[in-house]
Amino acid sequence: MTASSRIIVIGAGPVGLCLSLALAQEGVEVTVIEALRDDNFLEQVPRAGANHPATLELFDRIGLYARMEPRGIIAPLFHYWDRREQKRIAEFDHAHLKEDTGFPYVLQCERIKIVEEALKLAKAHPHIDVRLGTTFTSFEQEADGVTAFATNPADETEAFRGAYLVSCEGARSIVRKDLGIGFEGFTYPDRTLNIEVAYDFRENGYTERNYISDPDEWSNLFHWKGPPDRWRIHFPTEAHEDEDALTREDALQSRLQRFLPTGKPFEIVGTNLYVVHQRVAQKFRVGRAILAGDSAHVNSPIGAMGMNSGVHDAFNLADKLVRILRGEADEEVLDRYERQRRHVAVQHTQAQTIRNKRLLAEKDPAVRQKNNDELRRTAEDPKLARAFLLRSSLIGSLREAEQIA
Ligand SMILES: Cc1cc2nc3c(=O)[nH]c(=O)nc-3n(C[C@H](O)[C@H](O)[C@H](O)COP(=O)(O)OP(=O)(O)OC[C@H]3O[C@@H](n4cnc5c(N)ncnc54)[C@H](O)[C@@H]3O)c2cc1C
Repeated sequence: MTASSRIIVIGAGPVGLCLSLALAQEGVEVTVIEALRDDNFLEQVPRAGANHPATLELFDRIGLYARMEPRGIIAPLFHYWDRREQKRIAEFDHAHLKEDTGFPYVLQCERIKIVEEALKLAKAHPHIDVRLGTTFTSFEQEADGVTAFATNPADETEAFRGAYLVSCEGARSIVRKDLGIGFEGFTYPDRTLNIEVAYDFRENGYTERNYISDPDEWSNLFHWKGPPDRWRIHFPTEAHEDEDALTREDALQSRLQRFLPTGKPFEIVGTNLYVVHQRVAQKFRVGRAILAGDSAHVNSPIGAMGMNSGVHDAFNLADKLVRILRGEADEEVLDRYERQRRHVAVQHTQAQTIRNKRLLAEKDPAVRQKNNDELRRTAEDPKLARAFLLRSSLIGSLREAEQIA
């Protein structure tokens, strides 16, 4: 491959790093441009962390899984709970997928650990030029290539030339905005409060991943490996509520005590408040500029699909770029990337995450009862449980995308 076959990747998040590693392992030269520096790379707010079986298979392909497993928690089970009734409604077991995947479980391993390990792999790879402390500002494209402009650590504008540019910059993608691509969808009026506590909820019957419905205050509850081990709880909050008031120690403690009255203060190790968007870019590519991950689609974290589906974009795209650069396929395969991954974003990720939130927040008692009965019946029937898990683990979305010409 010649120098002009270099791929410029903007953003060393999970999507940008997986794309870079997947390309480099096939001999493609990559430049990764990342605004964060070595000294603040690990100071990122807590975000994703539940990694589904289909994603674990892909991490394994680039040697990342072996580095993640010791830093994570293997979680074959997840629960649905009804907070009003203080009862577990259903337990799903990924063992139903043992014929479908070599990884019949979710690995609870936070995004920050994933990017830390992936960055080490990228820095050590001879085909990857990692440019930290470098902020991408704009780009130009011509018939035979692209030029990305970025401000480097010396505060100079530097130009990077490549065959294609992939925006893995996250939801605020400059590339998407510069191309005038609409980001269609909506933003929920309520914000989500994330509280991290050092308390073992397994003592109260919970498992490593729990979805808890309640007409007033639904929650997600997840376990992360320490030391010290932490549990993350999400709660809904109203748009008008003041952030300082919501995140004051006494307010957090009383919210936690309403959730689980232990009579003792919880050890709170972190908290943050975030806005949830459900949006998909109208197009995933214009010429030599391509969108992947959060720059192409964003969704609520209920169901853990954002990072997972972004990583699936990365591998789908890497396979196609490799074939183009080797002369085995023409550029039209990139239109298939858009058809496949936009279909998954709209029909699977958006549809499922919107449905997941509705299920947890449902207010009508009769509908809640019906939902609970259905979840129970699904979890108890091995055939229905497998079908459910194929969807929740994103294996179904990958199989469906393969059928798209
Ligand atoms: C609270 C919360 C919980 C979540 N939980 C889950 C979960 O359990 N499972 C799941 O699948 N998803 C989850 N998500 C979603 C997940 O975090 C995102 O989908 C995922 O991080 C997107 O990865 P990305 O690489 O596309 O973008 P990002 O992770 O946003 O990374 C973008 C990178 O680009 C860099 N960058 C941005 N602009 C520039 C620029 N101009 N120049 C250079 N670099 C730039 C940034 O510094 C960053 O490193 C959650 C999200 C939230 C908010």
